[in-house]
Amino acid sequence: MRLLIMGAPGAGKGTQAKLIANHYRIPAISTGAIFRANIAAKTPLGMRVQQLISAGEFVPDVITTAVVAKRLLENDALDGWLLDGYPRTTDQVEALDIILEDQRQHFDCVLSLEVDPEVLVERLVKRAEIEGRADDNEETIRRRMEVYREETEPLMNIYRERGLLVSVDGQGSVDEVAERIFAAIDATVDK
Ligand code: AMP
Repeated sequence: MRLLIMGAPGAGKGTQAKLIANHYRIPAISTGAIFRANIAAKTPLGMRVQQLISAGEFVPDVITTAVVAKRLLENDALDGWLLDGYPRTTDQVEALDIILEDQRQHFDCVLSLEVDPEVLVERLVKRAEIEGRADDNEETIRRRMEVYREETEPLMNIYRERGLLVSVDGQGSVDEVAERIFAAIDATVDK
């Protein structure tokens, strides 16, 4: 099974991605998590992207796409995966199409987690207190929301037109949302 998960910052993508990955025994691949791990390990990639990420800006497409192309070729991803946080721009949509064409793969559906904007900000402020993510301060949160609306929301239409978009209500407890997602996937994807 190959899936994408999309949603605004704070929609619960990361949390749900881990639960989906466990449930269907596929790796959850998060570009944001890969970048954060590289920043923590002070790798050349980490040094390159650190400032952009802490300002709430996107990492350039060429870098992000190279990271994804390489990650999808790792052994654990050969039979399936869940991509969290990629694609995020229309150019990345095309880049992903090309990566998958090269690998003779395709994905099954795109999960869209829908959450009321006011709830999003509340959740992000809470996450900042708990996790201390450098990009969870108020100014960066605002910028990430703006970038999301401008760059990423249009992707929903692309995938809706392709008949691949599956919208799920992302409000409620983590378990409630997870159950809703599993039901939506099971109703959509042939196993
Ligand atoms: P996330 O953990 O998905 O919220 O990602 C955290 C940050 O990493 C984002 O705000 C971006 O700065 C960067 N990032 C993650 N994925 C991408 C992507 N597909 N394209 C560009 N930047 C990304």
